[in-house]
Amino acid sequence: MKIEVLEKNETNIRLLVREADVPLMNALRRIVISEVPSMAIDEIVVIENSSIFQDEMIAHRLGLIPLKTDLDSYNLPEECPCKSEFGCNLCRVTLTLDAEAKEGTRTVYSGELIPENPDVVPVSDKIPIMKLAKGQKLKLEAYARLGKGKNHAKWQPVSMCTYKYFPKVEIDSKSCDACGKCVEICPRRVLTKTENNIKIRDLMACTLCQDCVDACPRNPPAIRVDWEKDAFIFSLESTGVLSPERTLKEASKTLDKQLRELEEQIKVENFEKD
Ligand code: SF4
Ligand code: SF4
Ligand SMILES: [Zn+2]
Repeated sequence: MKIEVLEKNETNIRLLVREADVPLMNALRRIVISEVPSMAIDEIVVIENSSIFQDEMIAHRLGLIPLKTDLDSYNLPEECPCKSEFGCNLCRVTLTLDAEAKEGTRTVYSGELIPENPDVVPVSDKIPIMKLAKGQKLKLEAYARLGKGKNHAKWQPVSMCTYKYFPKVEIDSKSCDACGKCVEICPRRVLTKTENNIKIRDLMACTLCQDCVDACPRNPPAIRVDWEKDAFIFSLESTGVLSPERTLKEASKTLDKQLRELEEQIKVENFEKD
């Protein structure tokens, strides 16, 4: 397998993966979404709530705040040696919130959550949790734990993880009369018209929709859209809880572990049959 990084920043990564197939790409995508752990608030203890919001609603909103995840310092609750329902310092992080509207109506933001571990903080300070009217108070303790997206979407480390075939767009310069119809119809502005021919402007943006082929007045069409059978563009957008590289690294570690387990099971079954 050959991997080329097409684009990378703090939250996004786009890879060109060659010599791969759909089952592998899809397994990686599914593991990123459902198996890579991240931190999220899982339980709260409300000390005072004089707002109009019910405690359950506040708990739900707090659970959806992405928290920066320190995978090296914490255990998944089910794997922690403490075996405690409440958790310990290795599988739980406490965050506190103490907000009051003294002057008038105000919004309580994620930045007001005070974590016991400064590394486990909301990804953004600006996520609104709720509004308090004058004189209302909200005081609580929240417990964040590692979890997986397969158990609740709040633990998904990504907002998007997709793959698509690597496109191939060919223009037959002998039959093309540069009418520009394919350029006009393309929703992704993949093509561009120069003085008397059509050029490819951004091949990666092509979604293989075939609109350009249908729009071509030539018979057979002067433009052909196809895809490479073993090359894919893999895109991932993190919610900010983990870096895109760490998310992919954890996903490939999990895939490797799952394949080894499968191999062991097959060996055991064959041994039992023999
Ligand atoms: S297949 Fe669709 S996206 Fe790709 S070049 Fe043609 S019209 Fe544009
Ligand atoms: S629609 Fe067909 S003939 Fe017209 S510019 Fe595109 S490829 Fe050429
Ligand atoms: Zn523990």
